[in-house]
Amino acid sequence: MIDPNIDPNLGIPVRAPAVEAVDDTILPFEVKTLDLRGRIVRLGPAVDAILSSHDYPLPVAKLLGEAIVLTAMLGSSLKFDGRFILQTQSDGPVRMLVVDYTSPAKIRACARFDAERVTQAIANDAAEPGQLLGRGHLAMTIDQGPDMSRYQGVVPLEGKDLEHAAHEYFSRSEQIPTRVRLAVAEEFRASDGGPHHHHWRAGGILLQFLPKSADRARQPDLDPGDAPPGVAPHAQPEDEAWVEGRSLVATIDDIELIDPALSSERLAYRLFHEHGVRVFRAAPVHAQCSCSRQSVENMLRSFPQTDRDDMIENGKITVTCEFCSSTYVFAPDEVTDEAEPLRS
Ligand SMILES: [Zn+2]
Repeated sequence: MIDPNIDPNLGIPVRAPAVEAVDDTILPFEVKTLDLRGRIVRLGPAVDAILSSHDYPLPVAKLLGEAIVLTAMLGSSLKFDGRFILQTQSDGPVRMLVVDYTSPAKIRACARFDAERVTQAIANDAAEPGQLLGRGHLAMTIDQGPDMSRYQGVVPLEGKDLEHAAHEYFSRSEQIPTRVRLAVAEEFRASDGGPHHHHWRAGGILLQFLPKSADRARQPDLDPGDAPPGVAPHAQPEDEAWVEGRSLVATIDDIELIDPALSSERLAYRLFHEHGVRVFRAAPVHAQCSCSRQSVENMLRSFPQTDRDDMIENGKITVTCEFCSSTYVFAPDEVTDEAEPLRS
């Protein structure tokens, strides 16, 4: 007897894609006939809360928004509790981006940049993501907690954008054919007839080719190795299923990734309906920082007294969290060393 609850090919309900778009979600999907897997990220209030808490110049906010989508996409695929940290360090006007995703579903982000160089880049029409980043590297770290080893993958940044860096990472480190698309936009909405309010929206898609045979995943841009000079390298044609998958992703417009009227399920269906697409339960994500008055107090206590004395302004020590811009104010005697000398 066949139990439909056991056989994954039986008893799977087939339904129409959800019409309603749900913001701040990550939708995993699968196209079995092409050996493709992927995720569609759609961010509304989460990306708006993060970018609005900083007063970054527009192109810097947009670049950080892309890093947030990429981090949500990759961090949400962790199969255990932990943190996924994406960090760039480079010589462009934006020196550093840090985005961290803490399972389950918390994300925060910040950027460090040279304001003068960013202004200049904008004036010179040279503020595209790759130009803002410049050269350096992108590191992705998986942290499973204090007793576990950390895993870090690093790829060079060479004046190109984060999509390009992600492709490099998956092709070099993981050897998985991958396409990533990231989109960020400002939305202007009139609320109750009042002034137009500005909101950030962002979205993205990750598509990976994961055939059972590793041979099929081989990509032609990998050097075949030690052929003698003069011998033409063996041309490895790309697998047709992957060519089809990446061609479909190439047809996606930015607007499809951020359109509040297009659900992630409908986007998946629009792209892959001819091949049969199956979706899994969408995961939520929200903007939440992990800072607290207690953690800031502990950090201040770890400094030497002379450093704390230097931080006193108008009789107070004020600390602003770089991620969420929360401000914590302490009276100097609240954060003196814990071990007080006893006096008789
Ligand atoms: Zn914070």
